[in-house]
Amino acid sequence: MNPSQAAPGSQASLREANRLRVLDALREQGAMTQVELAGATGLSPATVSNMVKELDGAGALELSPSIRNGRRAVLVSLATGNTLLAGIAFGDRDVRVAVATGPRDIVGRQRMPLPANHNADEGMERAARLLHDLVEKAGKTMPDVKAVGVGIPAPVDSVSGQVGSESILPGWRGVDVADEMRGRVGAPVSVDNTSNLGALGELRCGALQGVQNGAYIKLSYGVGAGIVLGGEVFRGIAGTAGEIGHLTIDEHGPVCRCGNRGCLETFIGAHALSDALAGSHGRLTLRDIIAKAIDGDAGCRRVIEDAGRHLGVALAGLVNLLNPEVVVLGGQLSLVGHVLADPMQRALERSAIPSAVASLVVRESELQTDADVVGAVVAAETLYAATEGHLVTITSMA
Ligand SMILES: [Zn+2]
Repeated sequence: MNPSQAAPGSQASLREANRLRVLDALREQGAMTQVELAGATGLSPATVSNMVKELDGAGALELSPSIRNGRRAVLVSLATGNTLLAGIAFGDRDVRVAVATGPRDIVGRQRMPLPANHNADEGMERAARLLHDLVEKAGKTMPDVKAVGVGIPAPVDSVSGQVGSESILPGWRGVDVADEMRGRVGAPVSVDNTSNLGALGELRCGALQGVQNGAYIKLSYGVGAGIVLGGEVFRGIAGTAGEIGHLTIDEHGPVCRCGNRGCLETFIGAHALSDALAGSHGRLTLRDIIAKAIDGDAGCRRVIEDAGRHLGVALAGLVNLLNPEVVVLGGQLSLVGHVLADPMQRALERSAIPSAVASLVVRESELQTDADVVGAVVAAETLYAATEGHLVTITSMA
């Protein structure tokens, strides 16, 4: 009998629920002994023992000898073979790391805040430490990590491998991120912009699945787009396509961190929203502004509505140029939902070619703030497939 068709309350449905509890606990908390697993799931030791036997027989688990409190013990973990992929997504204020066996199969994840204006060394050091921790929790070792995808919140020059702007993310200027990270993790590394990775994540497992021409808009501290053409992420000749945040909205507007004037980001980036509220609300973080807007704070809603209007004008440009099927709104700021999306839609309808808007679907991100880290795992998977033949040499150096 198929367990998913088991009648509720039946013996079979209870077994299925217990099985999921065991798998969820291992996914969330990493490798553990059967005694610890009983504590984590609230199941009896006898039930855990049965479940582990059954799941191990089905190849879903790995059992490995270990020492706990000075005594021999068996550690139970999710079966990953000996192949792990890692995704690392840097934000302006945090880094998120995931280890996975595939883009849909994340076996562990963690986030750590980063100081504002951190430098590249500091960021990469913390990311590498998080990765080591997650690999250990999964009951694995670093040589099991076969490839790493890294995202940074700035244009990446695909020719030099460096940040493609002198003034965006100044702490990362002149750093060859792939090369530096490879030295820290002992596996091949690919680097891309987090908006492109967001598009890649949504394309593979989220709101852009099956879409030929579309865009993923990342609304966070900064603003960027990942453009999808012919079912693939389009990066342009040097990797910097999709910099919608630095599209000029007002050529007499405020000076942007990129050196230009009146970029979209100077109107809807986190600094712009926080500056607009400084007089009435004091200094708020982007997270505070979003939470207060959801709670109904009139001032916070107003600045987000204005941001939605500006975003709609910029999107109209993108829609007129590309005539996409789907635009996905992602990143932290998209979590406010209609407060942003409604004024955006009105401005878009006012400014873009009517037939282009009529055939356009605007969707919320399905992966939410995980889109870029999932995309980084997709990038790692592609890199692994491309370098598989050479891995023996690379891992033996680690
Ligand atoms: Zn700019």
